Amino acid sequence: MQVLFRGISQLVTCRGGAKRGTAMRDLGVIEDGAILVENGKIKAVGTRQDLEKEYRGEIYECGNKLVMPGFVDSHTHLIFGGQRADEFGWRLRGDSYLSIMNRGGGIVKTVEATRTASFYELKERAKKYLTQMRAMGVTTCEIKSGYGLDLHTERKQLEVIAALKDVQPTQLTATFMGAHAVPTGKTADEYINFCIEESLPAVVREGLCEFADVFIEEGAFTVRQAEAYLRRAQSLGLKIKLHADEMTSLGGTELGILLKACSVDHLLKIREDAIEKLAKTDTVATVLPLTTFCLGEEYAPARKLIDAGATVAAASDFNPGSCCTYSIPLLIALLCIYMKLSIEETITALTINGAKACGKEAVAGSIEKGKRADFVLFDCDHYRCLPYYTGLNLVEKVFIEGEQVYGNVA
Ligand SMILES: [Zn+2]
Repeated sequence: MQVLFRGISQLVTCRGGAKRGTAMRDLGVIEDGAILVENGKIKAVGTRQDLEKEYRGEIYECGNKLVMPGFVDSHTHLIFGGQRADEFGWRLRGDSYLSIMNRGGGIVKTVEATRTASFYELKERAKKYLTQMRAMGVTTCEIKSGYGLDLHTERKQLEVIAALKDVQPTQLTATFMGAHAVPTGKTADEYINFCIEESLPAVVREGLCEFADVFIEEGAFTVRQAEAYLRRAQSLGLKIKLHADEMTSLGGTELGILLKACSVDHLLKIREDAIEKLAKTDTVATVLPLTTFCLGEEYAPARKLIDAGATVAAASDFNPGSCCTYSIPLLIALLCIYMKLSIEETITALTINGAKACGKEAVAGSIEKGKRADFVLFDCDHYRCLPYYTGLNLVEKVFIEGEQVYGNVA
């Protein structure tokens, strides 16, 4: 079945693959554009005039509005039990993380709640989050485990992701992040060895993930521990990502470069020389400004990374502790206003570069022949409206594999 989507004031295609440096400004815009969709895939992209020639099939009128690729949220922790709103209030009052931990808060609280939550409960909550994310235009999403810190619960989180693939339309990437924190009662070395010997082989054998991720930080894992874990993951066939240089610069970015990671994420404390090195690689630099905003910290040097020629992506980092939001409008505002990205760079970071960061570059992140027909219709006629309507959601309709999954049906 074919459908021609036309009446697109501006078609932002983001064509030509992931982009670095100045190329991030190129959105591949087609004025008065059209998209021909066949069986969930994009069959042709061009101007209305080009695509209307000899076409006699079904038509979908877009009402002279902006159409862009669906957003890719390439970094989330959206499967967890419980919530930590009390802690947020304590933090606003100025309480230290240590005093919050002493009152039973912090990641330990989420780990306990995730261990006791049922599979069904985790799945239903995640489904709700993904539905709300779709309403803001997210059609592809990466999700990490990492709130079990034991094999049983890490597997349960990954099995929830697998189950979600059958009950909702957003395209998902699953990441094993057993090495998120050190579980109570174990040393970091003991636990990393457990991940290397037990957890990683088990989740790979069961086909539950495409990526492995690790948190390199004081109080979490060292570069040496992370390297052993990531090399094991790679030997088992997984692609890798790293939480690097968030609060302290321990050399996580350098490790990511050494191991040819798919992405290095956070980067608030990335060293100057690491910016230059990273810019020369194919590793995506993923910035997570919502977390920075929620914690009131200084933003990662995204502007410098782009100016140096890096491939920069942006994602939500949605998690119950440091960043309980997946707001795309807020994310766009922060990227433009505080991180000094142009709107074009912001859109590239949230689409095709995000797709590369989570291994979906071949199927998502742009409107191009052969890709999935995942795109968003906005209630405006130009992409410059996105940051202008600050913090407001302009998404009117969302299509995944050519099917409308959000918005009023015409
Ligand atoms: Zn994270």
